[in-house]
Amino acid sequence: MILKGNELATDKELKVGGLTPFSATDYPGQLAAVVFVQGCPWRCGYCHNPHLQTRTGDSPLAWPRILTRLQRRIGLIDAVVFSGGEPTIDPGLEAAMREVRALGFGVGLHTAGAYPRRLAEVLPLVDWVGIDVKATWPGYDAITRISDSARHAFASAELVLASGVAHEFRTTVHPDLHTEQDILALAHSLSTMGVKHYALQVFRGTGCADKGLPSRSTAGYPGTELLARVSALFTGFTFRRE
Ligand code: SF4
Repeated sequence: MILKGNELATDKELKVGGLTPFSATDYPGQLAAVVFVQGCPWRCGYCHNPHLQTRTGDSPLAWPRILTRLQRRIGLIDAVVFSGGEPTIDPGLEAAMREVRALGFGVGLHTAGAYPRRLAEVLPLVDWVGIDVKATWPGYDAITRISDSARHAFASAELVLASGVAHEFRTTVHPDLHTEQDILALAHSLSTMGVKHYALQVFRGTGCADKGLPSRSTAGYPGTELLARVSALFTGFTFRRE
């Protein structure tokens, strides 16, 4: 099933395209399992999970079986992170989060904010959210390749900040998509909104369907001076070059 624009899925049970049983990098300070939910309405060229963009008729991994596997990890992991794809596309997300909480796990969420209304529904069940911010608001559609995506992302960013849920805002940057001036303007805009924790992560080519982006060197990008200026705007700043 291909969902266009910001169309919502209507399936009852969470559709899962992948599971990482143990991760120390997807929820800061917590050992977590990561559930990769199928489907995303956006088409970022740098996406490294393009196989998760389309929702299939049936869930590749049955949610009840995943829940059973998670049950066996009680005491071994702290939390379950719902990632994707775009997990808020899935109408089964809220129920899945409740089931995970009932097992005693914390709940993490990775989202790009494509569905603010559904994000608002699940945020009370979330302990930590990592929210992608693609670009400055006027530059959004060039990255997502979907019109009007900035409006949804902006509404979601405001919801996260108003909720008080622990957060990390993060931006994947590539020299063909973001100049250093773009990055600085975005950082100023987020800081002004009230973002406290921000991460910049340099594009990595693993799994990327766009063959042009990996061919461009990212050595020395972004520069150390820019990183220092961005870092000064936030309580917590992380730079990742993986
Ligand atoms: S929003 Fe995330 S999952 Fe969706 S296409 Fe962009 S990078 Fe991929």
